[in-house]
Amino acid sequence: MRLSRYFLPVLKETPADAQIASHRLMLRAGMIKQSSAGIYSWLPLGFRVLKNIERIVHEEQQRAGHIPMLMPTLQPADLWRESDRYDAYGPEMLRIRDRHGRDMLYGPTNEEMITDIFRAHVGSYRELPLTLYHIQWKFRDEVRPRFGVMRGREFYMKDGYNFDISREDAMYAYDRHMVSYLRTYERLELKAIPMRADSGPIGGDDTHEFLVLAETGESEVFYDAAIADLSLGSRDIDYDDRAALRAICEEWTAPYARTDETHDPALFEALPEDRRRSSRGIEVGQIFYFGTKYSDAMGATVQGPDGKPVPVHMGSHGIGVSRLAGALIEASHDEKGIVWPEGVTPFHCGIVNLRQGDTDCDAACAQIEAGLIARGLDPLYHDRDERAGAKFATMDLIGLPWRITAGPRGVKEGKVELTSRRSGESEEMTVAAAIDRVA
Ligand code: ATP
Ligand code: MG
Ligand code: MG
Ligand code: MG
Repeated sequence: MRLSRYFLPVLKETPADAQIASHRLMLRAGMIKQSSAGIYSWLPLGFRVLKNIERIVHEEQQRAGHIPMLMPTLQPADLWRESDRYDAYGPEMLRIRDRHGRDMLYGPTNEEMITDIFRAHVGSYRELPLTLYHIQWKFRDEVRPRFGVMRGREFYMKDGYNFDISREDAMYAYDRHMVSYLRTYERLELKAIPMRADSGPIGGDDTHEFLVLAETGESEVFYDAAIADLSLGSRDIDYDDRAALRAICEEWTAPYARTDETHDPALFEALPEDRRRSSRGIEVGQIFYFGTKYSDAMGATVQGPDGKPVPVHMGSHGIGVSRLAGALIEASHDEKGIVWPEGVTPFHCGIVNLRQGDTDCDAACAQIEAGLIARGLDPLYHDRDERAGAKFATMDLIGLPWRITAGPRGVKEGKVELTSRRSGESEEMTVAAAIDRVA
């Protein structure tokens, strides 16, 4: 992509109303634009990041055997009357009436709708287990939308639902979700800690939230330092191996880790003092097992092995896809701007031409661009006629992992400069060597 043909409306001024780094940087880097409180347009750069996060979430869910689909944003109120949540959900639910006077709502979550789909199509225990998920916009009329996309009113969420014949099978689904979530966050290069949580309005017994440690997080968290050192790394995960999944979940849930809602000071203080940590965290996901709550209320039964109808055991599992864009920036930025991890970066490499219009520099940059594209990479070539300083500032702000700079002096000797965004270190090398390093 050439910047001269792109739409990257970077801001020079720091937006006054943005209180946290990720919100400021998303606005300054031209990633998002607010349309009304808590509702945002995703401009081209932000859209690329959102889609990259979404792709990783999809890949990890499908690796775990979960099936993608898509449900609508608007739902009929009647489904929520069946589960008794229409009134219970309160003012966070955006209620709409259509021209025929039918009550609708903009879905804040999809337990009712998926249960309705399930009961219409599944009749026998032989069709289980089943885990369906989608990634779709949700709406919650938050009292205090703030921090940009971190607490929006309209937000993008992955929500998955498992249907199983027994509690035991549903707990296997729970474990699959916990492990696939851990993998997802690791691929995003985020440290997200599973913490025992409170079930809230969805209701249920077993639930964990995943929290990214950050000073600007809205939750207060308490944990054993030992949990922060855990990592799946390159472990080969077999999602068919229940015992292995259970072992991973036990490893990650054994150390103390709770939010203020479930915090137990006595248990926490029983830890050796040097391992006690308290900090703040951003909730980037949550998994629930809630048994037959919805299947009882909505009549989602299957015929069991003995021919008798049994309500299915369910769970629901969410990842805040749009919130993750903000959380990633909270976790990875510096005074100059964003520092994207490789997996989600909107472009792999920036190309800066120090003398636009100079035949040699233009040719070198075109060669770098073509070389990167030939390697399957997506470069962003800053080909506008701007000062070097301004070009560097834009590249640093938008946070691409690599920058290749071509100037008249180096190009004469066949050299360009490769700079790492994270370390800030630069090295002179040939065009071919720079492309090799980035690829
Ligand atoms: P919170 O405690 O932050 O209000 P929640 O517990 O109400 O979140 P869940 O119902 O667990 O949210 O939804 C799953 C995920 O969706 C959350 O873990 C979070 O990452 C994301 N999410 C929830 N509300 C919002 C929001 N208003 N804006 C952006 N993402 C959100
Ligand atoms: Mg909430
Ligand atoms: Mg919460
Ligand atoms: Mg939650």
